[in-house]
Amino acid sequence: MKIAIVGIGLIGGSMAISLKESGFAHHIIGIDRSQDNLDKAIRRRLIDEDLSLQEGIAAAEIIILATPMNALKELLPKVLDLVEDQVVIDVGSAKVDILNIVRHHPRRKNYVASHPMAGTEYSGPEAAVPNLFDNRCTVLCDIEDSDEKAVELTRQLYAAMNMSLIYLDANSHDIHAAYVSHISHISSFALALTVLEKEQDEKRIFELASGGFRSTVRLAKSSPEMWVPIFEQNRDNVMDVLDEHINTLARFRSLLIKKDFKQFHQLIEKANSIRKIIDKNL
Ligand code: NAP
Repeated sequence: MKIAIVGIGLIGGSMAISLKESGFAHHIIGIDRSQDNLDKAIRRRLIDEDLSLQEGIAAAEIIILATPMNALKELLPKVLDLVEDQVVIDVGSAKVDILNIVRHHPRRKNYVASHPMAGTEYSGPEAAVPNLFDNRCTVLCDIEDSDEKAVELTRQLYAAMNMSLIYLDANSHDIHAAYVSHISHISSFALALTVLEKEQDEKRIFELASGGFRSTVRLAKSSPEMWVPIFEQNRDNVMDVLDEHINTLARFRSLLIKKDFKQFHQLIEKANSIRKIIDKNL
């Protein structure tokens, strides 16, 4: 199987490793706007060769789109214009906007919308790692609009990456993604900013930073190039979840004002129940 990956960064590069290691792909073509990234990907043996978009599409059986979401919006219709019977899969983190763009495209059936639920806070080909996707899940969206053979090939591809599959309509995906992924990034960016502002007065604050602080602000290292287009494309859902989150923060604040530590205790106990859900799914 020859696979072309457009955007050979964290996700594209890590997929290249998994697909090659599993034997699903025998040849990976890298396509990227950055020659520097392509050179790094060749040096790291993530890809076998780099080609232009047109050449890569013509040579591949599957084309994976793994660029940030703003680029994806332009790339997807362009790539569908160029394919014949190849399968096109995107890995973008928001789905409604992008699916609307190609809803009436004559090659819509060649395309399968997917979101592998795995990642790190790092970007670029240097961030690609083996086993990133092991035992995690991928969401496939609106599969009834894709050709059955294309969906089957996509299933096989994610099975080779050791991932399970969940099927959702694009709207439900975007709501769930706002809750489980997008809000935690905003929250982490906000916490990092709060502490960075304090640090201007108190130089020692980071020396005191413990494991708890580090793990809560880990996501704040994520790149704006990746995240701003996601917030742009999933704005309404992220705003709803953010409102709920702000209300919860305000609730904690009001309990502190009232010195109601009994309620505070109950809320933390309730929050602890997340352990059962997370531990069950990891
Ligand atoms: P990344 O590490 O920044 O990689 C993206 C790559 O695409 C970079 O090499 C970038 O080059 C290149 N690129 C940008 N615009 C392009 C264009 N117009 N044509 C060709 N290449 C282009 O990003 P990522 O974290 O892998 O994310 C990629 C996609 O996966 C996004 O759509 C994201 O929503 C989705 N996703 C991300 C995660 C996560 O946790 N990171 C998880 C699941 C899904 P430059 O370096 O020059 O910008």
